[in-house]
Amino acid sequence: MSESADGPELKYSRVLLKLSGEALAGQQGFGISPPVVDRLVDEVKILHEMGVSVALVIGGGNIVRGTQASAQGMDRVSADYMGMLATVINALAMQDLLERKGVVTRVMTAIRMEAVAEPYIRRRALRHLEKGRVVIFAAGTGNPYFSTDTAAVLRAIEVHADVLIKATKVEGVYTADPEKDPAAEFIPAIGYHDVIARDLRVMDAAAISLCRDNAVPIIVLNINNPGAVAGAVRGRQMGTLVS
Ligand code: UDP
Repeated sequence: MSESADGPELKYSRVLLKLSGEALAGQQGFGISPPVVDRLVDEVKILHEMGVSVALVIGGGNIVRGTQASAQGMDRVSADYMGMLATVINALAMQDLLERKGVVTRVMTAIRMEAVAEPYIRRRALRHLEKGRVVIFAAGTGNPYFSTDTAAVLRAIEVHADVLIKATKVEGVYTADPEKDPAAEFIPAIGYHDVIARDLRVMDAAAISLCRDNAVPIIVLNINNPGAVAGAVRGRQMGTLVS
């Protein structure tokens, strides 16, 4: 907690951190890897101890992805609901580990399931954040045909987050997929329009447009670099800034 007095050093005081489901799976690519989640939780805990107001949106791609399930013949809407439920599983895993490390959290779901978590009510979410609780938004937007990236932008706008940090496995945004194209070049900063026009796949187009229309800056960074998120929140150049 010694760093909580560093408030003035913070560039962003309220952060929405988007973690993909894959980020929880680690090398295995599927399901939840406890040591990997443990490390992610440490990153969140550092932010919390710095006095940052933290909201999380977690994906579900490590369990179910609606588009993939529907490509295999499943009804798209059912598959999307399965994907949204997958995000709740991930949210509960994050909550459990965060609380074991002494961070007070609330999971709020966009689909009502009161026995498991609170329903998402914006004013209540704001109250939790004001009280210093880490709020984990689960079940995406609650609607099929959307992504958790769009949910992340929506919640970032609703809770007045100063920045949306998208945690990935690569350093930031590149001119092409760096895992496939060795000639891909890193881009330190870029505008929303260019991301869409150049089809850079930072997030889906709906999510980027929503950010642009509401002037929410996005930082895309590598969550596997310890301290990257904390550095970004202090205003250091980390990953790619989309604004
Ligand atoms: N999903 C949805 N509506 C939402 C958010 C998510 O239908 O508002 C479904 C969709 O099927 C998606 C799945 O949940 O494929 C998991 O979310 P996502 O693919 O965004 O997770 P990530 O890629 O971040 O792990």
